[in-house]
Amino acid sequence: MEAGAERFNYMEPTTPSIVYRYHKGLYVNLTNRCPTACVFCVKNAWKMDYRGSNLNLAGAEPSPAEVIALAKAEWAAAPFEELVFCGYGEPTMRLEALLACARMVKTGRAEPLPRTLRVRLNTNGLANAVWGRNVVPEMKGLIDSVHVSLNTADPAQWLELMRPLDPWASTGFEKVKEFIREASMLLPEAVASAVEGPALDSAKFRELAEKLGAEVRLRPRLESEEPR
Ligand code: SF4
Repeated sequence: MEAGAERFNYMEPTTPSIVYRYHKGLYVNLTNRCPTACVFCVKNAWKMDYRGSNLNLAGAEPSPAEVIALAKAEWAAAPFEELVFCGYGEPTMRLEALLACARMVKTGRAEPLPRTLRVRLNTNGLANAVWGRNVVPEMKGLIDSVHVSLNTADPAQWLELMRPLDPWASTGFEKVKEFIREASMLLPEAVASAVEGPALDSAKFRELAEKLGAEVRLRPRLESEEPR
């Protein structure tokens, strides 16, 4: 800290967190890029902080080797139950890096992380739209669980809530549904999640999620929690 900084309540910028602990998992902050600007995203209100971790990578996206090295160090300090690709940004914007990390775990090249370590992807489900192909088969055997932030059964409401960037606005909702359907067929676990609120028709949401083969998870808005 610079001289006098304390007197002026100066806060030194914290080092960006590439991995961070939350509940029983180790979360991986792979990118800040995102094809949506969800109305419920707290990254701006919380100034890129997530419960004490600075998730602002400032463009310096980590390599898979870097991620795995950090995960191994965390494991040595205290084992965790799952490796979760999440962060402030859409992990599938870095599909190759995401799959490379998961492959290192599942092939035993990330020991002492066990091959059986659960690997989860938290996503807005737009990967097939962004990459112009069905990417779910590429995840088979590498990703154990996908949690897709679907949020509604209504296409117009999806646009209002998710605010996708232009290239993905017209086809996005159908592509997210396709992604969930594929994931529910090919991966061990597919969950469709929605942020609770008066605008959510939870019966219709549940019906759609189940039709797509996914489990359902309703979660409270993060803004209702105490920001740090
Ligand atoms: S997908 Fe995640 S990071 Fe992207 S805008 Fe939505 S909540 Fe924020």
